[in-house]
Amino acid sequence: MPFKELSMFKKITLFFILFASFVVTSYAANGRFTLVIDAGHGGHDAGAIGAISKEKDINLNIALAFGRYVEQNLPDVDVIYTRKKDVFIPLHQRADIANKAKADLFISVHTNSLPPGHYAKGFQVYTLGMHRAKDNLDVAMRENSVISMEKGYQQTYQGFDPKSSESYIMFEFMQNANMGKSVELARLIQNSVCSSAGRIDKGVHQAGFLVLRESYMPSCLIELGFITSPDEEEFLNSPEGIDAMAKGIYNAFVKYKNIYDTHIVVPYRADKKNIAVSRVIPSVPVDSPRPVPTQTVPRSTKKSSTRKVIKSVANSQTSLDVPDNIPLFKVQIFAVNQQLRAGCAQFRGHTDIDCIQDGSLYKYTIGASTDYNEIARLREKLRKDFPQAFVIALKGGKRIDTNQAISEFLKNKK
Ligand SMILES: [Zn+2]
Repeated sequence: MPFKELSMFKKITLFFILFASFVVTSYAANGRFTLVIDAGHGGHDAGAIGAISKEKDINLNIALAFGRYVEQNLPDVDVIYTRKKDVFIPLHQRADIANKAKADLFISVHTNSLPPGHYAKGFQVYTLGMHRAKDNLDVAMRENSVISMEKGYQQTYQGFDPKSSESYIMFEFMQNANMGKSVELARLIQNSVCSSAGRIDKGVHQAGFLVLRESYMPSCLIELGFITSPDEEEFLNSPEGIDAMAKGIYNAFVKYKNIYDTHIVVPYRADKKNIAVSRVIPSVPVDSPRPVPTQTVPRSTKKSSTRKVIKSVANSQTSLDVPDNIPLFKVQIFAVNQQLRAGCAQFRGHTDIDCIQDGSLYKYTIGASTDYNEIARLREKLRKDFPQAFVIALKGGKRIDTNQAISEFLKNKK
Protein backbone atom coordinates (compact mmCIF):
# COMPACT_ATOMS: atom_id res chain seq x y z
CA MET A 1 0.00 0.00 0.00
CA PRO A 2 1.68 3.23 -1.18
CA PHE A 3 0.12 5.48 1.50
CA LYS A 4 1.23 3.25 4.30
CA GLU A 5 4.71 3.06 2.82
CA LEU A 6 4.92 6.84 2.57
CA SER A 7 3.90 7.41 6.16
CA MET A 8 6.39 4.79 7.32
CA PHE A 9 9.10 6.46 5.26
CA LYS A 10 8.19 9.85 6.77
CA LYS A 11 8.35 8.42 10.26
CA ILE A 12 11.74 6.91 9.63
CA THR A 13 13.04 10.12 8.04
CA LEU A 14 11.80 12.23 10.95
CA PHE A 15 13.26 9.83 13.43
CA PHE A 16 16.58 9.85 11.61
CA ILE A 17 16.72 13.68 11.55
CA LEU A 18 15.97 13.87 15.27
CA PHE A 19 18.52 11.18 15.92
CA ALA A 20 21.24 12.88 13.87
CA SER A 21 20.69 16.25 15.55
CA PHE A 22 21.08 14.69 18.96
CA VAL A 23 24.31 13.03 17.88
CA VAL A 24 25.78 16.41 16.93
CA THR A 25 24.78 18.19 20.14
CA SER A 26 25.46 15.48 22.66
CA TYR A 27 29.21 15.92 23.02
CA ALA A 28 30.28 16.52 26.62
CA ALA A 29 31.34 20.12 27.05
CA ASN A 30 32.99 19.99 30.47
CA GLY A 31 36.29 18.51 29.31
CA ARG A 32 35.80 15.29 31.25
CA PHE A 33 34.95 11.90 29.85
CA THR A 34 31.59 10.54 30.96
CA LEU A 35 31.06 6.79 30.88
CA VAL A 36 27.62 5.31 31.51
CA ILE A 37 27.60 1.68 32.63
CA ASP A 38 24.24 -0.01 32.32
CA ALA A 39 23.68 -3.25 34.23
CA GLY A 40 20.81 -4.87 32.33
CA HIS A 41 17.47 -5.75 34.01
CA GLY A 42 16.87 -5.48 37.79
CA GLY A 43 14.09 -5.60 40.36
CA HIS A 44 11.07 -7.58 39.15
CA ASP A 45 12.80 -7.98 35.77
CA ALA A 46 15.26 -10.81 36.49
CA GLY A 47 16.39 -11.18 32.87
CA ALA A 48 17.44 -14.69 31.90
CA ILE A 49 17.24 -17.36 34.60
CA GLY A 50 20.01 -19.89 35.19
CA ALA A 51 20.34 -22.94 37.41
CA ILE A 52 22.04 -21.11 40.28
CA SER A 53 21.61 -17.42 39.45
CA LYS A 54 19.70 -14.67 37.67
CA GLU A 55 20.96 -12.52 34.82
CA LYS A 56 20.23 -9.24 36.66
CA ASP A 57 22.71 -10.14 39.44
CA ILE A 58 25.50 -11.28 37.10
CA ASN A 59 25.11 -8.08 35.07
CA LEU A 60 25.22 -5.87 38.18
CA ASN A 61 28.26 -7.58 39.73
CA ILE A 62 30.34 -7.25 36.58
CA ALA A 63 29.10 -3.72 35.78
CA LEU A 64 30.09 -2.54 39.28
CA ALA A 65 33.47 -4.30 39.15
CA PHE A 66 34.21 -2.71 35.75
CA GLY A 67 33.19 0.71 37.08
CA ARG A 68 35.44 0.31 40.12
CA TYR A 69 38.47 -0.27 37.87
CA VAL A 70 37.66 2.92 35.98
CA GLU A 71 37.10 4.96 39.15
CA GLN A 72 40.32 3.75 40.73
CA ASN A 73 42.56 4.23 37.70
CA LEU A 74 41.15 6.97 35.49
CA PRO A 75 40.58 10.16 37.50
CA ASP A 76 39.41 12.13 34.45
CA VAL A 77 36.46 9.81 33.84
CA ASP A 78 33.06 10.31 35.45
CA VAL A 79 31.31 6.96 35.84
CA ILE A 80 27.52 6.97 35.92
CA TYR A 81 25.62 3.76 36.65
CA THR A 82 22.04 3.35 35.46
CA ARG A 83 21.59 1.23 38.58
CA LYS A 84 23.82 0.26 41.49
CA LYS A 85 21.19 -1.83 43.23
CA ASP A 86 18.60 -4.45 42.43
CA VAL A 87 15.94 -2.08 41.07
CA PHE A 88 13.78 -2.02 37.94
CA ILE A 89 14.72 0.71 35.45
CA PRO A 90 12.73 1.06 32.19
CA LEU A 91 14.84 0.78 29.03
CA HIS A 92 14.15 4.33 27.84
CA GLN A 93 15.15 5.69 31.27
CA ARG A 94 18.55 3.99 30.99
CA ALA A 95 19.16 5.81 27.71
CA ASP A 96 17.77 9.06 29.19
CA ILE A 97 20.34 8.90 31.98
CA ALA A 98 23.13 8.73 29.39
CA ASN A 99 21.60 11.40 27.13
CA LYS A 100 21.00 13.87 29.96
CA ALA A 101 24.56 13.39 31.21
CA LYS A 102 25.81 14.04 27.64
CA ALA A 103 27.79 10.86 28.10
CA ASP A 104 30.69 10.05 25.80
CA LEU A 105 30.08 6.33 25.93
CA PHE A 106 27.32 3.91 26.90
CA ILE A 107 28.06 0.27 27.74
CA SER A 108 25.20 -2.09 28.52
CA VAL A 109 25.99 -5.37 30.28
CA HIS A 110 23.83 -8.47 29.75
CA THR A 111 23.99 -12.25 29.93
CA ASN A 112 22.76 -14.48 27.13
CA SER A 113 20.47 -17.50 27.31
CA LEU A 114 18.90 -20.11 25.07
CA PRO A 115 15.61 -21.99 25.25
CA PRO A 116 15.67 -25.55 26.67
CA GLY A 117 17.22 -28.05 24.26
CA HIS A 118 19.60 -25.49 22.78
CA TYR A 119 23.19 -25.11 23.83
CA ALA A 120 25.86 -22.51 23.12
CA LYS A 121 28.80 -20.87 24.84
CA GLY A 122 30.81 -17.73 24.33
CA PHE A 123 31.19 -13.98 24.62
CA GLN A 124 29.62 -11.47 22.22
CA VAL A 125 29.47 -7.71 21.84
CA TYR A 126 26.68 -6.03 19.88
CA THR A 127 26.36 -2.63 18.28
CA LEU A 128 23.17 -1.09 17.00
CA GLY A 129 22.25 -2.10 13.48
CA MET A 130 20.45 -4.58 11.30
CA HIS A 131 20.91 -8.21 12.30
CA ARG A 132 22.53 -10.40 9.66
CA ALA A 133 21.50 -13.68 11.26
CA LYS A 134 18.39 -15.01 12.98
CA ASP A 135 20.42 -15.78 16.14
CA ASN A 136 21.25 -12.10 16.54
CA LEU A 137 17.65 -11.04 16.02
CA ASP A 138 16.63 -13.55 18.71
CA VAL A 139 19.04 -11.95 21.21
CA ALA A 140 17.69 -8.45 20.49
CA MET A 141 14.09 -9.69 20.72
CA ARG A 142 14.72 -11.29 24.09
CA GLU A 143 16.51 -8.24 25.51
CA ASN A 144 13.91 -5.83 24.08
CA SER A 145 10.98 -7.89 25.39
CA VAL A 146 11.48 -6.33 28.85
CA ILE A 147 9.66 -3.21 27.62
CA SER A 148 6.39 -5.14 27.88
CA MET A 149 6.88 -4.86 31.67
CA GLU A 150 6.64 -1.07 31.32
CA LYS A 151 3.24 0.59 31.50
CA GLY A 152 2.20 2.19 28.20
CA TYR A 153 5.22 0.89 26.32
CA GLN A 154 3.41 1.11 22.95
CA GLN A 155 3.36 4.91 23.35
CA THR A 156 6.85 5.20 24.81
CA TYR A 157 8.45 3.23 21.99
CA GLN A 158 6.20 4.51 19.16
CA GLY A 159 4.39 1.25 18.59
CA PHE A 160 7.54 -0.87 18.58
CA ASP A 161 6.61 -4.51 19.06
CA PRO A 162 9.66 -6.31 20.46
CA LYS A 163 8.35 -9.71 19.34
CA SER A 164 7.52 -8.79 15.73
CA SER A 165 10.37 -9.08 13.23
CA GLU A 166 8.74 -6.30 11.18
CA SER A 167 9.53 -3.83 13.95
CA TYR A 168 13.20 -4.50 13.34
CA ILE A 169 13.21 -3.37 9.69
CA MET A 170 13.86 0.22 10.78
CA PHE A 171 17.29 -0.74 12.12
CA GLU A 172 18.45 -0.92 8.52
CA PHE A 173 18.29 2.90 8.62
CA MET A 174 20.34 3.23 11.77
CA GLN A 175 23.59 4.32 10.11
CA ASN A 176 24.90 7.23 12.12
CA ALA A 177 27.97 9.20 13.08
CA ASN A 178 28.64 6.99 16.09
CA MET A 179 28.71 3.72 14.25
CA GLY A 180 32.45 3.64 13.55
CA LYS A 181 33.33 4.32 17.17
CA SER A 182 30.76 1.84 18.45
CA VAL A 183 32.09 -0.94 16.23
CA GLU A 184 35.66 -0.15 17.28
CA LEU A 185 34.63 -0.25 20.94
CA ALA A 186 32.87 -3.58 20.42
CA ARG A 187 35.91 -5.02 18.66
CA LEU A 188 38.25 -3.88 21.46
CA ILE A 189 36.02 -5.36 24.18
CA GLN A 190 35.56 -8.59 22.22
CA ASN A 191 39.32 -9.10 21.79
CA SER A 192 40.27 -7.99 25.29
CA VAL A 193 37.75 -10.11 27.19
CA CYS A 194 38.20 -13.23 25.06
CA SER A 195 41.97 -13.20 25.51
CA SER A 196 42.25 -12.06 29.14
CA ALA A 197 39.25 -13.92 30.57
CA GLY A 198 39.65 -16.97 28.32
CA ARG A 199 36.17 -16.76 26.80
CA ILE A 200 35.00 -18.43 23.59
CA ASP A 201 34.92 -15.74 20.89
CA LYS A 202 31.46 -15.55 19.34
CA GLY A 203 32.32 -12.33 17.55
CA VAL A 204 31.05 -8.78 17.19
CA HIS A 205 27.52 -8.43 15.80
CA GLN A 206 24.79 -5.92 15.06
CA ALA A 207 21.16 -6.10 16.09
CA GLY A 208 18.25 -3.83 16.94
CA PHE A 209 18.62 -3.18 20.65
CA LEU A 210 16.19 -0.50 21.84
CA VAL A 211 18.46 0.63 24.67
CA LEU A 212 21.18 1.43 22.11
CA ARG A 213 18.72 3.06 19.71
CA GLU A 214 17.61 5.49 22.41
CA SER A 215 21.16 6.49 23.42
CA TYR A 216 22.76 9.27 21.38
CA MET A 217 26.43 8.43 21.82
CA PRO A 218 28.79 5.59 20.84
CA SER A 219 27.52 2.48 22.56
CA CYS A 220 27.55 -1.28 22.70
CA LEU A 221 25.78 -4.12 24.45
CA ILE A 222 27.79 -6.96 25.94
CA GLU A 223 26.49 -10.51 26.25
CA LEU A 224 28.86 -11.89 28.89
CA GLY A 225 28.14 -15.56 28.26
CA PHE A 226 25.29 -18.05 28.41
CA ILE A 227 23.56 -18.43 31.75
CA THR A 228 22.12 -21.66 30.31
CA SER A 229 25.63 -23.12 29.99
CA PRO A 230 26.50 -24.49 33.47
CA ASP A 231 30.24 -23.79 33.31
CA GLU A 232 29.74 -20.25 32.01
CA GLU A 233 27.11 -19.57 34.66
CA GLU A 234 29.49 -20.78 37.35
CA PHE A 235 32.37 -18.70 35.95
CA LEU A 236 30.25 -15.52 35.77
CA ASN A 237 29.21 -15.98 39.40
CA SER A 238 32.72 -16.67 40.75
CA PRO A 239 34.87 -13.83 42.19
CA GLU A 240 37.66 -14.71 39.71
CA GLY A 241 35.23 -14.72 36.80
CA ILE A 242 33.70 -11.38 37.78
CA ASP A 243 37.14 -9.82 38.13
CA ALA A 244 38.47 -11.27 34.87
CA MET A 245 35.46 -10.04 32.88
CA ALA A 246 35.57 -6.60 34.51
CA LYS A 247 39.31 -6.27 33.88
CA GLY A 248 38.91 -7.33 30.25
CA ILE A 249 36.21 -4.71 29.64
CA TYR A 250 38.23 -2.09 31.52
CA ASN A 251 41.38 -2.69 29.45
CA ALA A 252 39.36 -2.31 26.26
CA PHE A 253 37.80 0.90 27.57
CA VAL A 254 41.28 2.34 28.26
CA LYS A 255 42.30 1.56 24.68
CA TYR A 256 39.12 3.11 23.31
CA LYS A 257 39.58 6.24 25.39
CA ASN A 258 43.21 6.57 24.31
CA ILE A 259 42.08 6.58 20.70
CA TYR A 260 38.97 8.74 20.89
CA ASP A 261 39.17 11.02 23.94
CA THR A 262 40.07 14.36 22.38
CA HIS A 263 39.06 16.53 25.31
CA ILE A 264 42.50 18.08 25.82
CA VAL A 265 42.89 21.56 24.37
CA VAL A 266 46.23 23.15 25.25
CA PRO A 267 46.57 26.93 25.44
CA TYR A 268 47.18 28.09 21.90
CA ARG A 269 48.04 31.49 20.48
CA ALA A 270 47.12 31.73 16.82
CA ASP A 271 49.79 34.35 16.09
CA LYS A 272 52.66 32.07 17.10
CA LYS A 273 53.66 28.64 16.00
CA ASN A 274 54.90 27.71 19.45
CA ILE A 275 53.13 25.25 21.67
CA ALA A 276 53.05 26.53 25.22
CA VAL A 277 53.47 23.82 27.80
CA SER A 278 53.57 24.82 31.44
CA ARG A 279 56.24 23.27 33.61
CA VAL A 280 55.60 21.56 36.91
CA ILE A 281 56.03 24.04 39.76
CA PRO A 282 59.19 23.21 41.74
CA SER A 283 58.38 22.24 45.32
CA VAL A 284 61.91 22.85 46.62
CA PRO A 285 64.35 25.77 46.34
CA VAL A 286 66.63 25.38 43.33
CA ASP A 287 69.78 24.95 45.44
CA SER A 288 68.31 22.00 47.34
CA PRO A 289 69.25 18.50 46.26
CA ARG A 290 66.97 17.41 43.41
CA PRO A 291 66.28 13.92 42.17
CA VAL A 292 68.54 12.94 39.28
CA PRO A 293 66.58 13.24 36.04
CA THR A 294 66.03 9.89 34.40
CA GLN A 295 66.85 9.69 30.71
CA THR A 296 63.45 8.65 29.50
CA VAL A 297 63.26 10.69 26.33
CA PRO A 298 65.04 8.94 23.48
CA ARG A 299 67.05 11.09 21.09
CA SER A 300 66.82 10.73 17.38
CA THR A 301 69.88 9.02 15.99
CA LYS A 302 69.10 9.96 12.40
CA LYS A 303 71.02 13.26 12.35
CA SER A 304 70.98 13.43 8.56
CA SER A 305 67.21 13.22 8.37
CA THR A 306 65.59 16.13 6.59
CA ARG A 307 62.57 15.77 8.83
CA LYS A 308 62.45 18.12 11.73
CA VAL A 309 63.04 16.34 15.02
CA ILE A 310 61.81 18.10 18.11
CA LYS A 311 64.17 18.39 21.03
CA SER A 312 63.11 16.68 24.17
CA VAL A 313 61.37 18.86 26.72
CA ALA A 314 63.72 17.28 29.26
CA ASN A 315 66.15 20.03 28.29
CA SER A 316 63.98 22.56 30.12
CA GLN A 317 62.50 23.67 26.85
CA THR A 318 59.05 25.02 27.51
CA SER A 319 57.97 25.71 23.97
CA LEU A 320 58.60 23.73 20.82
CA ASP A 321 58.83 25.11 17.34
CA VAL A 322 56.49 22.84 15.41
CA PRO A 323 54.74 23.84 12.19
CA ASP A 324 50.94 23.94 12.56
CA ASN A 325 50.48 21.18 9.99
CA ILE A 326 52.78 18.62 11.66
CA PRO A 327 51.39 16.44 14.47
CA LEU A 328 53.33 16.47 17.73
CA PHE A 329 53.25 13.33 19.88
CA LYS A 330 53.53 13.18 23.67
CA VAL A 331 53.01 10.53 26.34
CA GLN A 332 50.26 11.38 28.79
CA ILE A 333 51.10 9.66 32.08
CA PHE A 334 47.96 10.64 33.98
CA ALA A 335 45.48 13.43 34.63
CA VAL A 336 44.37 14.79 37.99
CA ASN A 337 42.15 17.63 39.13
CA GLN A 338 44.80 19.48 41.10
CA GLN A 339 48.23 20.80 40.22
CA LEU A 340 51.04 18.62 41.54
CA ARG A 341 54.42 19.76 42.84
CA ALA A 342 57.62 18.62 41.14
CA GLY A 343 59.17 15.70 42.93
CA CYS A 344 55.88 14.47 44.39
CA ALA A 345 55.45 10.72 44.72
CA GLN A 346 53.03 10.45 41.79
CA PHE A 347 55.82 11.34 39.35
CA ARG A 348 57.81 8.30 40.53
CA GLY A 349 61.16 10.08 40.30
CA HIS A 350 60.63 11.52 36.81
CA THR A 351 61.47 15.22 36.51
CA ASP A 352 61.07 15.78 32.78
CA ILE A 353 57.34 16.33 33.10
CA ASP A 354 55.10 18.85 31.40
CA CYS A 355 51.58 19.83 32.31
CA ILE A 356 48.67 20.67 30.04
CA GLN A 357 45.83 22.39 31.85
CA ASP A 358 42.44 21.47 30.47
CA GLY A 359 39.61 23.12 32.37
CA SER A 360 39.86 21.87 35.93
CA LEU A 361 42.06 18.98 34.89
CA TYR A 362 45.87 18.84 34.86
CA LYS A 363 47.18 16.39 32.29
CA TYR A 364 50.79 15.41 32.84
CA THR A 365 52.97 14.39 29.92
CA ILE A 366 56.51 13.24 29.25
CA GLY A 367 58.41 13.67 25.99
CA ALA A 368 57.50 15.48 22.80
CA SER A 369 58.41 14.59 19.25
CA THR A 370 57.08 14.70 15.73
CA ASP A 371 58.40 11.13 15.41
CA TYR A 372 55.60 8.83 16.54
CA ASN A 373 57.98 5.85 16.87
CA GLU A 374 60.12 7.69 19.41
CA ILE A 375 57.10 8.49 21.54
CA ALA A 376 55.67 4.98 21.18
CA ARG A 377 58.98 3.54 22.43
CA LEU A 378 59.01 6.07 25.27
CA ARG A 379 55.47 5.05 26.21
CA GLU A 380 56.58 1.40 26.45
CA LYS A 381 59.46 2.39 28.76
CA LEU A 382 57.16 4.48 30.94
CA ARG A 383 54.55 1.76 31.31
CA LYS A 384 56.35 0.17 34.28
CA ASP A 385 55.98 3.42 36.24
CA PHE A 386 52.72 4.55 34.64
CA PRO A 387 50.68 1.55 33.46
CA GLN A 388 47.96 3.83 32.03
CA ALA A 389 50.38 5.97 29.98
CA PHE A 390 49.28 6.54 26.41
CA VAL A 391 50.28 8.54 23.36
CA ILE A 392 48.46 11.78 22.62
CA ALA A 393 48.80 13.96 19.54
CA LEU A 394 48.60 17.73 19.15
CA LYS A 395 48.43 19.84 16.03
CA GLY A 396 48.56 23.62 15.95
CA GLY A 397 48.41 23.45 19.74
CA LYS A 398 45.18 21.45 19.82
CA ARG A 399 44.62 17.84 20.76
CA ILE A 400 43.78 15.72 17.71
CA ASP A 401 42.82 12.10 17.17
CA THR A 402 45.95 9.99 17.74
CA ASN A 403 45.17 7.53 14.93
CA GLN A 404 44.71 10.40 12.51
CA ALA A 405 48.04 11.87 13.64
CA ILE A 406 49.80 8.53 13.18
CA SER A 407 48.54 8.19 9.62
CA GLU A 408 49.70 11.76 8.90
CA PHE A 409 53.08 10.93 10.41
CA LEU A 410 53.37 7.87 8.16
CA LYS A 411 52.34 9.89 5.11
CA ASN A 412 54.88 12.65 5.86
CA LYS A 413 57.57 10.01 6.33
CA LYS A 414 57.22 8.74 2.75
ZN1 LIG B 1 19.60 -9.08 29.28
